[in-house]
Amino acid sequence: MDEFTFGGERRPTADWLTDPEDRDFDEVWVFENPAGVSTERWFHGAGCRRWLTVRRDTSLDRVVEVR
Ligand SMILES: [Zn+2]
Repeated sequence: MDEFTFGGERRPTADWLTDPEDRDFDEVWVFENPAGVSTERWFHGAGCRRWLTVRRDTSLDRVVEVR
């Protein structure tokens, strides 16, 4: 098992999606891969088994904050 499992990128849900399931899909699976800081969810399966919110600067590939 990988130590961390990628859980998707967090971003504001599109206003035009009104169905709750569509909104979940949009939040989890639609990636825009922006340059700069993105907010991602990672599951620490081989460690504390918690979901972490990681803010990562994609242009530097550097984690700037973990919550
Ligand atoms: Zn952990």
